[in-house]
Amino acid sequence: MIIEKLLLQVLIVLSPVLIYSVISNGKKEPRFPFLMVFYMLAGVLCIVFSYQTFGLYWDLRYVIVVCAFLYGGVRTGWVVFAVLMLTRTIYGGDHLPFAYLCITSAALAAYFFQAKYQQVVTKWKKVLFTIALSLVPVVIQVTITMILVSQHALPVMDESVLASYLFYYVLVIIIAAGFITLLHEAVNERRRMQEEIIRAEKFNTLAGLAASIAHEVRNPLTVVKGFLQLMKEDDKSTNQQYFSLVLNELGRAENIINDYLSFAKPELKSVENVKLLETVQEIQALLQPYAIKEGVHLNELHDIEEGLLVKADRNQLKQALINFVKNAIEATPNGGNVSLIVQQTGNMVTVHISDTGKGMNKEELSRIGSLFYTTKDKGTGLGTMVSIRIIEAMAGMVTFKSKELVGTTVSVSLPVQKEPATIHSINDKKKEAM
Ligand code: ADP
Ligand code: MG
Repeated sequence: MIIEKLLLQVLIVLSPVLIYSVISNGKKEPRFPFLMVFYMLAGVLCIVFSYQTFGLYWDLRYVIVVCAFLYGGVRTGWVVFAVLMLTRTIYGGDHLPFAYLCITSAALAAYFFQAKYQQVVTKWKKVLFTIALSLVPVVIQVTITMILVSQHALPVMDESVLASYLFYYVLVIIIAAGFITLLHEAVNERRRMQEEIIRAEKFNTLAGLAASIAHEVRNPLTVVKGFLQLMKEDDKSTNQQYFSLVLNELGRAENIINDYLSFAKPELKSVENVKLLETVQEIQALLQPYAIKEGVHLNELHDIEEGLLVKADRNQLKQALINFVKNAIEATPNGGNVSLIVQQTGNMVTVHISDTGKGMNKEELSRIGSLFYTTKDKGTGLGTMVSIRIIEAMAGMVTFKSKELVGTTVSVSLPVQKEPATIHSINDKKKEAM
């Protein structure tokens, strides 16, 4: 029965990724090209165990070639292609040129589209992509089979049987290509997660160490500052101006350390009612010099009442917004615009940070906010992640919209804080309703 043989073929096709997942087990890419070897073996097995009838070989070798290119890279792809051609040549038969044509078409399709494949983000689109590529040689094969049948060049007794075989064949190819993609994606996902966990661990340790050092430095600094202040009061000599200078600089160092400490631990310390508009305007004033230096116009527009309140930790909120605005300025070329637009919709208030910068493509957009993701030489890849965490800790939400070469809009939404009086009246109404 063809269906049994084809199910055996599915097992053979899935075996490389299954064995590979056990061997690699979420570890880094191994040195030895396991995947290439497994795919070569699977390719040979496909042909050895293929179902031969009507003078044709029914097997899933095209799926093997396509996946070798997509998941093993170009080199693996061509090696597997060569092995398949060789094995098929050894088997010989009347329709050898026909077999060559189909394998070559699978390899070429996979080769030309493998770069595009890497840009596909979602796994279901990848599944469709793999299926489409695997069907390229199948379409050729089916067409040629039809032509051969019409010329009576194939020993076909019953055409309806051939039609049912073709149906099963296409169906099994679709299933196999879909499954193999899902398995490969699961293996890759596991590897990515493992790497992310290790890096997060490292980052956590570093942040913890840095925070404790900053803490230790702050204490002697405070003592030194205190004594210097005393000495300054007693001193009547010409050193007075130096004292002011030293105290100023010490104050600055203290501020930097305090900022770092509040940044390293994004718990909300002092949650209070913050006037959002005031905060946004302060940020605009703070970053204006930086924007001017980068040749970017930084402007602010609002559509809310002056006194609108949000419940937030003022410093953390500022830090988060500064990160987003700084990213926007950095992404915008000379002469571009960055706008801070504050709007209220229902019980949420949103700060849109909109730039006319380089924007991001889908792939970049999907990675933004993940740990250590940066495209800058001196970037840390932490700003966005920390800022999202801060906003989410305030029951807010951050969304990104971006178009490559057009610009990006980061929208930071926070719940509006109702005045105590308003809350009261709402509660009263609820009570009345009850
Ligand atoms: P860093 O600024 O250190 O690179 P971030 O986490 O702040 O780290 O940003 C991560 C990456 O996201 C940046 O390197 C950049 O590629 C991208 N990015 C962030 N904001 C924007 C933006 N407004 N426009 C285009 N790309 C952006
Ligand atoms: Mg940044």
